Amino acid sequence: MTNQVVLTGIILSVSLVGDYDKRFVLLTKERGKITVFARGARRQKSNVMAVTEAFTYGRFTLFEGRDAYSFVSAEIDEYFMSVKEDLQAVAYASYFAEFAEHLTREHLNEKNILKLLYQTLRVLGAKIIEYPLIKCIYEIKLLAYYGLQMQVFHCVSCEKEGENFVFRAEKGGICCPDCTRVSLKERFLNTSTVYTLQYIISSNIEQLYSFKVTMEVQKELEFICKEYIKEYVDRKFKALEFLECIEALS
Ligand SMILES: [Zn+2]
Repeated sequence: MTNQVVLTGIILSVSLVGDYDKRFVLLTKERGKITVFARGARRQKSNVMAVTEAFTYGRFTLFEGRDAYSFVSAEIDEYFMSVKEDLQAVAYASYFAEFAEHLTREHLNEKNILKLLYQTLRVLGAKIIEYPLIKCIYEIKLLAYYGLQMQVFHCVSCEKEGENFVFRAEKGGICCPDCTRVSLKERFLNTSTVYTLQYIISSNIEQLYSFKVTMEVQKELEFICKEYIKEYVDRKFKALEFLECIEALS
């Protein structure tokens, strides 16, 4: 068939259509983010059911119609079972996927974001790094790939390098006390926090998840991410609300 295509990607989200069908959003290497319709995917004996779940990664054979893609078959490389077996990890993964879905588009080159999400789910499933740190690293790197890279190598205003900085989301990065008003209550960022930000921005995806941080640095990273996302991403993520509920219970 001439209209069949094979695309490599990961399923970001799945919604139910009617009694037996599904629609899923696929982030692909070749065509960015696309929507796929899977007929009969919820029938009991359907082998399509298992391969059309969120976070499934592989090569998807699709029929390309005029307005939409229809699912034909898939060869799955990774189901991320260790993520799916842990409710807390699922909550994080759902947020990571929803964030990626919000930022990506069809026909754009989203290879880096796909690769980042894939690697992040692997690390999440491996349980070697604390989930809140994975979240900060993912958010910073995702926004950098989207074109919203934080300036963390010198003061955003005067470009001075050095030791004492505060974070100013509205200016896009770290700022020295000569260029911004620093209140008496406010503390300068820990130098390890600035180092960590620089590492996340400059390292490649394979080396990204290779460190741990102190509780103090973790708190500063969380504050920075929250402020930065509030400033540049105009969106309340449903999965983030769910994640915050899960974290409050644990
Ligand atoms: Zn400055």
